Amino acid sequence: MGAAPFQSVAVVGAGTMGNGIAQVFAQNGADVLLIDLDALALERGTAAIEKNLGRMVKKERLTADEADAARGRISTAGELAAVADQGLVIEAVVERFEVKRTVFEELDERTAPDAILATNTSSISITEIGAATSRAERVIGMHFMNPVPIMELVEVIRGQETSEETTELVTACAEAIGKTPVEANDYPGFVSNRVLMPMINEAIFCLFEGVADREGIDTVMKLGMAHPMGPLTLADLIGLDVCLDILEVLHRGLGEDKYRPCPLLRRMVAAGRLGRKAGKGFYDYD
Ligand code: NAD
Repeated sequence: MGAAPFQSVAVVGAGTMGNGIAQVFAQNGADVLLIDLDALALERGTAAIEKNLGRMVKKERLTADEADAARGRISTAGELAAVADQGLVIEAVVERFEVKRTVFEELDERTAPDAILATNTSSISITEIGAATSRAERVIGMHFMNPVPIMELVEVIRGQETSEETTELVTACAEAIGKTPVEANDYPGFVSNRVLMPMINEAIFCLFEGVADREGIDTVMKLGMAHPMGPLTLADLIGLDVCLDILEVLHRGLGEDKYRPCPLLRRMVAAGRLGRKAGKGFYDYD
């Protein structure tokens, strides 16, 4: 199939999202360069891909040969300099504007002027990220959902200056890897997190105020609203630090109290209870 219109792609950041994005592109025939400055994160990211591909073979969703081929298409690097020949770079580093700005300044210097620079940001302004480069028309949001190999949606977010051509290329690319793109405009949280995060935050307030216990809150939303998982379980899956970062962006960017992060969420993050990735969040994990 191939990830047309791109034969190859670089993914910057090998964490929860970056390794999933890399895996999906590799499964669909693209050569993938996975980059992380932290050697341990790169190792963990590669191990996560390995584990996921193995699981897919076991479930017969992929043949052993297809998994091998996908593995063979992924290479790794410990520095951004490796992106030089890439026509599409997808950034999936931490949800902090200053970090993303530095990454985009460097990507802008190191890639050809016509390369597309996409960000997987959950909530940060695509327009502001684009303004850190000399090619805002070729900067776009490509917002994958967690877990990337399973979730079908890619929210495609156009910044103020993003061109039609860039939007079309990225939309075609999302379709080529089996995803369904939906276009959104550049406002804090776009559609997905503007709707999701206030719900998660409200569930945390329910816990904070003793309205129900964690299982009760999750069960109400699962059985009562037909959500596949409860909001506290989902927050653990997303990462509580990521949830807090997104809520801060919504609160600052939209200026309304309804986006104020719950004090319990702040306390959980301060305590290192970051969710599934830390082995503990609202629930404990092995
Ligand atoms: P994560 O903390 O799991 O991974 C981030 C990775 O980026 C780490 O491995 C870190 O070492 C690396 N990194 C940090 N600075 C870097 C740099 N300068 N250069 C290269 N690598 C660097 O985070 P995540 O959950 O994968 O989130 C990544 C992005 O995806 C964020 O913008 C987040 O908002 C977004 N996102 C997250 C989810 C989710 O459910 N977690 C869903 C959709 C979008």
